[in-house]
Amino acid sequence: MSLAAGHPAIAIPGPSPLPARVMRAAHRAAPDIYGAELADLNLHVMAQLKRLAGTTGHLAPYIGNGHAGWEAAAANLFSPGDRALVLISGHFGRSWASQIEAMGVAVERMDFGNAPADPARLAARLAADDAAEVHAVLICQTDTASGAMADIPAIRAAMGDHPALLVVDAIASLGCAPMLMDDWGVDVLISASQKGLMCPPGTAFVWFSDRASARGTRGLTTPYWDWHMRAGAGRDSLWRFWGGTPPVQQIFALDEALRMLLDEEGLGAVWARHAALARSVWAAVDAWGAGNPGIRLTIADPSARAASVTAVTLPGADALREWVSRQCGVTLGIGLGAENPAGALRIAHMGHCNAAMMLGVLGAMQAGMIALGIDHGAGGLDAAARVLAEPA
Ligand SMILES: *Cc1c(COP(=O)(O)O)cnc(C)c1O
Repeated sequence: MSLAAGHPAIAIPGPSPLPARVMRAAHRAAPDIYGAELADLNLHVMAQLKRLAGTTGHLAPYIGNGHAGWEAAAANLFSPGDRALVLISGHFGRSWASQIEAMGVAVERMDFGNAPADPARLAARLAADDAAEVHAVLICQTDTASGAMADIPAIRAAMGDHPALLVVDAIASLGCAPMLMDDWGVDVLISASQKGLMCPPGTAFVWFSDRASARGTRGLTTPYWDWHMRAGAGRDSLWRFWGGTPPVQQIFALDEALRMLLDEEGLGAVWARHAALARSVWAAVDAWGAGNPGIRLTIADPSARAASVTAVTLPGADALREWVSRQCGVTLGIGLGAENPAGALRIAHMGHCNAAMMLGVLGAMQAGMIALGIDHGAGGLDAAARVLAEPA
């Protein structure tokens, strides 16, 4: 017998659960794409996206996923042979480095394993760069595979007076954890619609500062990816924002989702909710791990863990993922980038998710460990409940 009928629980780190309101907002035929209604709504969504990122700078939207955002940023920042220093804390940093290397960028990797980037190592490297050959420093705020969370202000501080641009991938963190692009001195920020933004996959965003606009080199820029055309578009040229037909239903979806995040719940409350849900997951895993040393969080230091996704080593993880899917209607993330992917999994707590959903996901996992005979410490759900009772 399966108990999986009912509302499915998606706990994968993107696409994240879609609010019914967002789906309903998108469920509408396109109006005239040359009319005032859509032009005004698009401008409003652009302004909301800048609020979300904490910037009064520029914004270039793209039809595409996060990988498109990576390529868009690189196409406006580098010429062939320009040097990018990529700080790597897991699978996504590695993929990003490979993608822009294939575009012709001279990539230098600084790999921290599954730990967050160490600002001191970055400072030492840049201090030795007398000729200022490093054109940009690239970092994922959250690496979605390891669940490591970078301290972006500390990274910026470590760059000191070095002229390199700071480029941050916030695809798995924007709308989940604080991002104050202007206050923190981030030059380029990249994100996409389907994680913290609670929208369907299909749009990517690149925010950039005046400094990035001036210092980006143009050797890889092609007309479609040129951020100036998009960021400089106005109300009378909607097509320029998007390089052609606008993704009309995505704009409707973004408008609704951003209203929920910015105007209703409020960003501070959104960040606090993610932090509390994350801590409830860590508490459960720690309790399970107390009875089985094989069960542990990938990131040992709580201050270096992401608010949006938690990576876990768990013997029998593949069987557990299959069991909770079949028996409970819960989908967990695969052990992407883990040393032994079959013995690892990820629990997403990003976007439109609440305490009941997290308790459901954790309860399904605990039931699965009992059913499959996976040793685990007692009290995982109690530990999670205690965190949620006092979410401070
Ligand atoms: C999901 C993700 C990506 C890739 O985004 P896609 O939409 O799958 O192309 C890149 N970086 C990070 C940190 C991510 O979480």
